[in-house]
Amino acid sequence: MSEYKIETKCIQSGYKPKNGEPRVLPIYQSTTYKYDSAAEMGDLFDLKAAGHMYSRISNPTLEEVEKKISDLEGGTGAVLCASGMAAILVAILNISSSGDNIVASASVYGGTVNLFSVTLKRLGIETRFFTSDMTDEEVEALFDDRTRLLFGETLANPGLDVFDIERYAAVAHRHGVPLMIDNTFPTPINCRPFEFGADIVIHSTTKYMDGHATVIGGCIVDGGRFDWTNGKYPELTEPDESYHGVAYVSHFGNAHAYYTKARVQLIRDFGVPLTPMSAFILNLGLETLHLRVQRHCENAMAVAEFLQSCDKVESVSYPGLESDPRHALAKKYLPRGTSGVVSFVIKGGKEAAIRFMDSLKLAAVVVHVADARTSVLNPAGTTHRQLTDEQLAAAGISPGLIRLSVGIENVEDIIDDIKQAMENA
Ligand SMILES: *Cc1c(COP(=O)(O)O)cnc(C)c1O
Repeated sequence: MSEYKIETKCIQSGYKPKNGEPRVLPIYQSTTYKYDSAAEMGDLFDLKAAGHMYSRISNPTLEEVEKKISDLEGGTGAVLCASGMAAILVAILNISSSGDNIVASASVYGGTVNLFSVTLKRLGIETRFFTSDMTDEEVEALFDDRTRLLFGETLANPGLDVFDIERYAAVAHRHGVPLMIDNTFPTPINCRPFEFGADIVIHSTTKYMDGHATVIGGCIVDGGRFDWTNGKYPELTEPDESYHGVAYVSHFGNAHAYYTKARVQLIRDFGVPLTPMSAFILNLGLETLHLRVQRHCENAMAVAEFLQSCDKVESVSYPGLESDPRHALAKKYLPRGTSGVVSFVIKGGKEAAIRFMDSLKLAAVVVHVADARTSVLNPAGTTHRQLTDEQLAAAGISPGLIRLSVGIENVEDIIDDIKQAMENA
């Protein structure tokens, strides 16, 4: 197939109807699949033949959406999961076990930090966090022979730090481990981490990919280039007893081993597939992803510039702004725009932030980001409510910090709403 541009892939990748078939991806609302003989069914269970067995493992609706997301990222294959968190969990456990450790950026999504520092720890997997001000030598000192992967977020939620993918790919590869990137905020429209050396890409499809705040979902995409035969990943090169001794790399090939194992072993055992209905809705979102992401970024840029000119605002954080310390990295990795999320600190602390938010008429106060509607959150008054002002400062969260997820409404209406709420704050 000729390589289409990303906008065309949003529409055309994945489902391709044959003569007389439905024009639009059908929802295969079936848990199970019929075969003509017991022998054919048996071959499926030994992974000797390709085909759907049971919708906990795979489903034709999901398969087409997986193909589309893989195509958008430039991967060799993808696996949809019940949520972004399920995708991160499966992606990590696919290549790590008790006694192993992972190296991760400290500025990743709060839910991921919980998973890493509490739940994975209980499973015997240690996370060694690093910060962007550490030198390569300091980061590399965290690695040992039980380190299985390096993890970062292209554009961190909510801090908006831009991850230096090429730099950390080189660090990971020097230690023979893959670089795993959560690419939720930029989406493949704004950044394709495989082009910069990443090996595995994760998405919370719940955010811009769905884009309408309707379905929770996640996805793991395999870049297909990491060499799993370097001696560190026996779970991919040695026989899997649960499939009569299939060894993933020799059976499926190095480029298809990782995501196939994630599906047939871990999605099967943990039972965390996406549903066909959710995959169908996600696919509708993907068809307009390129249009929406572009508008989110244009609107967010205008809002960030307006906030910068506002005398009630102490500081604005948006890597798209030239004055932002992350602007150089954003230009390199996110030349088409960063995302619709803008953070700013309002003068007057938590009280002013709360008065501002309560005065908004168009923007809604919700615990969500990255959908079509403009929304707003004050971390000090909500997600980090239990912390004292001193603890907030230690976590890098100013009491007056407001996180705006700029939607795709008319930007003049969004700015007018912010203006009138500022007057009341
Ligand atoms: C929301 C989010 C997640 C978690 O995804 P869910 O779909 O809510 O499970 C992971 N990473 C990032 C960057 C997110 O924004």
